[in-house]
Amino acid sequence: MSSGQGESGGRQEGQLPASGSVVTGGGNGVVFSGESIRPAVVSLSNQRLRLNPNKEHKPDTYDDLQLDFSPSIFSSLERYLPPSMLGMPRDDKVKFMREILLKYLPHGERNRVQKHREYRQKIISSYQPLHRELYTMHPATTFVPSFLKAISDNTEESFRSIMSEPSPGVFTFEMLQPRFCELLLAEVENFEKWVNDAKFRIMRPNTMNRYGAVLDDFGLETMLDKFMEGFIRPISRVFFSEVGGSTLDSHHGFIVEYGNNRDVDLGFHVDDSEVTLNVCLGKQFSGGELFFRGTRCDKHVNTGTQSEETFDYSHVPGQAVLHRGRHRHGARATTSGHRINLLLWCRSSVFREMKKYQKDFSGWCGECQREKKERQRTSIAATKLVKSFFLLKKING
Ligand SMILES: [Zn+2]
Repeated sequence: MSSGQGESGGRQEGQLPASGSVVTGGGNGVVFSGESIRPAVVSLSNQRLRLNPNKEHKPDTYDDLQLDFSPSIFSSLERYLPPSMLGMPRDDKVKFMREILLKYLPHGERNRVQKHREYRQKIISSYQPLHRELYTMHPATTFVPSFLKAISDNTEESFRSIMSEPSPGVFTFEMLQPRFCELLLAEVENFEKWVNDAKFRIMRPNTMNRYGAVLDDFGLETMLDKFMEGFIRPISRVFFSEVGGSTLDSHHGFIVEYGNNRDVDLGFHVDDSEVTLNVCLGKQFSGGELFFRGTRCDKHVNTGTQSEETFDYSHVPGQAVLHRGRHRHGARATTSGHRINLLLWCRSSVFREMKKYQKDFSGWCGECQREKKERQRTSIAATKLVKSFFLLKKING
């Protein structure tokens, strides 16, 4: 079950939906069938996105524009533009990319995006933040020094030096300053108090949690964008490149709460993300262990678990867990106390687009991998059988 298809936890602005009218062209690129894109914008007859991004190209920034998709989507997509377009004025590039993105967004979806924007504006215009310093990124007060050092060194070795990988693809490390966790908890409490006092009906983070709040909805979106770009993407680029870890370009940031009078546990699921960061903020609790059961592609999401894929983890306040969104997991009951976690679902629109043309995900899906090995084993066995048949024939004359 994907937990991300709820009213607020579903597709975020700028995320490419699962269906669209994209066709592959000639095997060397991705072609968007051009008939519904007005030629007045840019002639699309021979404009196709590159299959691989131009890594040397430094994209424009789109932060200052009022766009219906997140600015980082445009920066990320720009590297995929055909070479002839890279030097064009920013407005032309925006028009071209927006046309592509809009093609993927059905009307109902566009309405929903518009409504959600109004909902956010309503909150932001009347909610008074408690700790304003949280709303801009201050690395030195947010992260512990060891984590900052590893990020600034920016090598696999530096990341490994602060991380454990207790099970393949699950990384745990110390990340947030205790003081930052306290401030964030207080801010969330303050927000919830405001929600109650104002009798404001808020959207919950996803279909599976009845408590908790979406941080992006009350002003923390820009800060969390910087959080993802500066502090998650460098790590994901190294450990999760096969699931779009180097092209993470949008996020869904929220808080979940477990315990008495809150959600108790969380069923087995996959996240609507490429990479998920899960940080325990506190407070005192028992129970609430996370359990992991192997990474799966869409097709294999309900297949069995191999014994080596079984992994349970007890959360420690301040500690972060980083894993693929498709890594199947859940949380056991929080039996006493109050457990509050920060979740950052990091997404890559490029990866979601490219995924449509692939069938074999043995780079990260445990079941695809198993099937591939099985195919290789069968083919080796068949070759051996043929060989021994001919050998026998030879012996028997
Ligand atoms: Zn698979």
